[in-house]
Amino acid sequence: MSSSDPSTTARAPPLGIATLPQLLTGTAISEDPTYPCSICGTSMGVGDVVFAYASRRQDCSRWLVRRFYCWGCAPTRMISPSLGVAEAIVGGRIGTRTDPTPRVSQLCLTEIAVRDFSPLEES
Ligand SMILES: [Zn+2]
Repeated sequence: MSSSDPSTTARAPPLGIATLPQLLTGTAISEDPTYPCSICGTSMGVGDVVFAYASRRQDCSRWLVRRFYCWGCAPTRMISPSLGVAEAIVGGRIGTRTDPTPRVSQLCLTEIAVRDFSPLEES
């Protein structure tokens, strides 16, 4: 086997490029049946429109979703982008996912579209 065989390397190289909606689809929001808007506290549940702020630091490979907003509170664009952090505001709907081993149902992000994006090099 060659050293580039992903099954023989400790840290497999990336196998492709995914879009932000592909990466964030299925991101867990909560195990509770509803989740409050980060600004006004409105409860959002399955099927509701939801917006989220997501970010990824330059030294991290994963995107983190930090805040969820209802339709009325969602920012339309990035107000103050941070240098060295890729940031996005995405919109979609709340769906559900069930992980089989822990048998836990969770609210998750679905039907995602990017509303605004700030690359790593923008501040
Ligand atoms: Zn709100």
